[in-house]
Amino acid sequence: MDDQSLFNAHSHSVSTQYRTIYQLPLTQNQLVTELFSVGIHPEDATIDSTIKTDYFKNIVSKNCVAIGEIGLDNRITIPMETQETNYIEQLELATKHDLPILLHCVNAWDRCRFLHSIHAPKQVLIYHGFSKASILNQVLAYEQAIISIGGSILSNAALQEALTHIPLKRLLLETDDATVDLIAIYTKVAELKSLSLPTLIEAIQTNANRIFKL
Ligand SMILES: [Zn+2]
Repeated sequence: MDDQSLFNAHSHSVSTQYRTIYQLPLTQNQLVTELFSVGIHPEDATIDSTIKTDYFKNIVSKNCVAIGEIGLDNRITIPMETQETNYIEQLELATKHDLPILLHCVNAWDRCRFLHSIHAPKQVLIYHGFSKASILNQVLAYEQAIISIGGSILSNAALQEALTHIPLKRLLLETDDATVDLIAIYTKVAELKSLSLPTLIEAIQTNANRIFKL
């Protein structure tokens, strides 16, 4: 098995080992040669508009394959109105550039989905770092939603059970900012879904190629 066949849908570090969508930091220019996503996290919703404008220039790069991580977070102190303005602006960018969205969503699924349905209804909405098993059915009920799972699958029993109900076609895997190895996530997911590792790898590759138009 070739490591490059493992696809990492979202990571904050550059990888030479796995095919990865790197989360481009606000201060970085497009000099990266790997695939990347461009997005202003709700935590950063109040940044200066000139930084924003410069950062968004990276979207035209052919390596920019997603807008994200963007969304709404009910756990942080940034006012929800500011977060929504930031989210909507970037949903519109995703529509303009025809790119999928990497969604950061904390206790705000209904609102994230609603605003997506207004401002970017045609763009795939990837719920990244999904771990809240109790809302799985609501997320799956939204046609445009894809579920991306990370390191919490190794220890979250409710998520492990929920995974068995996620159609393979709607699944991506990621490391995000965790130190966990991608192969450990793939191995666990293959075991829980009773698939061979090569079958899982191929299915995720197919999904990634379709969703990110690779
Ligand atoms: Zn992240």
